[in-house]
Amino acid sequence: MRRGRIYLQRMHELSLAESIVEIVTERTDAARVRRIRVEVGRALSVVPEALRFCFEVVARGGPLQGAEIEIEEVPISGRCRSCEWEGFLEGFLPLCPRCAGGVEMVSGKELRISEVEVV
Ligand SMILES: [Zn+2]
Repeated sequence: MRRGRIYLQRMHELSLAESIVEIVTERTDAARVRRIRVEVGRALSVVPEALRFCFEVVARGGPLQGAEIEIEEVPISGRCRSCEWEGFLEGFLPLCPRCAGGVEMVSGKELRISEVEVV
């Protein structure tokens, strides 16, 4: 079943790459693009190399072909619902390191296109 899981993981990056290509193409009116910078939350478990590869495949033949994709990973941070704790979380367990209360995730789930450089 390991192969199936890897396939699913790649599907995840593929659908993210498709969203990026779709949004950027639409916003830039299908202009030629040199560089795209994306902020990707760690909680999305994206493998940057896989996203880059999927992007190249999806962008092929379109206005985004050959564009460089810069991936900036955003750490997972949260705020405790019980005490005043706020900070970065290790791993994906949403528990407060001070009181073990439930933590509300503040960052780490985003997929944001922060910069697009048009040729
Ligand atoms: Zn707490």
